[in-house]
Amino acid sequence: MSTTSTPTASTPVSKTASQLAYLTRALRAPAIRDSLERLAETAREEGWSHQEYLAAVLGREVAAREAHGAEARIRRAGLPVRKTLEDFDFAHAGDLDRELIVHLGMADFVAAKSNVILLGPPGTGKTHLAAAFAVRAAQAGHRVAFATASHWVMRLARAHNTGGLEHELRRLARIPLLVIDEVGYIPFDTGAANLVFHLVASRYETAATIVTSNRAFSRWGEIFGDEIVAAAIVDRLVHHADVIALNGDSYRLKHRRPTRAGAAT
Ligand code: ADP
Ligand code: MG
Repeated sequence: MSTTSTPTASTPVSKTASQLAYLTRALRAPAIRDSLERLAETAREEGWSHQEYLAAVLGREVAAREAHGAEARIRRAGLPVRKTLEDFDFAHAGDLDRELIVHLGMADFVAAKSNVILLGPPGTGKTHLAAAFAVRAAQAGHRVAFATASHWVMRLARAHNTGGLEHELRRLARIPLLVIDEVGYIPFDTGAANLVFHLVASRYETAATIVTSNRAFSRWGEIFGDEIVAAAIVDRLVHHADVIALNGDSYRLKHRRPTRAGAAT
């Protein structure tokens, strides 16, 4: 028999309260500790069953943990800016397929291990949408890693130089969503192009990738300095992918704050 006493009708309330404080600490369940009094009051007022009360209390803890987990994943993702789909102004984005964007926001493409390619000139919302999809994926429970193409190349080059490229690629392939932002702003040499190829190939049909670029696929040969490597990268990326062309005006230019010099002219 356990010697732990269970509260009964005759147990003083203060003893139950301190026992609950101890138990919620032992369970590491602060949301239960914080909500049990208030929910008990509601339960009494509304005549909930014991089971209904238990479900409500446990529900608070689960919701708090889920929210906390998503926040932690978003923090660790390394987003350059925290942008959301809610902040995205479709009216500005021209003839963008709104339904597709909303669908991608549900993050099913991550579980499906397929890709999203965002193409368009600077300032058209590529990074914004990539970050917004990353946030949604993190909220849906997926681990996410976001960086520019140059950053990924730097990271892989470091791994390569210490003989750990295979290991690093395997590690990255276990991250369900990787974002490669800004392919094309800086041209790559042969070594860098090969690293991008390895990164994309290692994720092909095993994990989802979002890529943004200011260059059409037809010009990726110039980015990678080699038509064959570029074609091999594009081939693996687009086999399972939604390709979104953003071709409105630059949001930055349209919504820029006038500078003092600008205001003077
Ligand atoms: P890109 O990566 O295509 O160069 P960004 O995504 O960085 O462009 O967008 C530039 C700025 O304009 C960001 O602050 C972004 O939030 C904003 N922006 C771009 N398009 C939109 C849009 N359709 N609705 C709201 N903000 C937008
Ligand atoms: Mg960008």
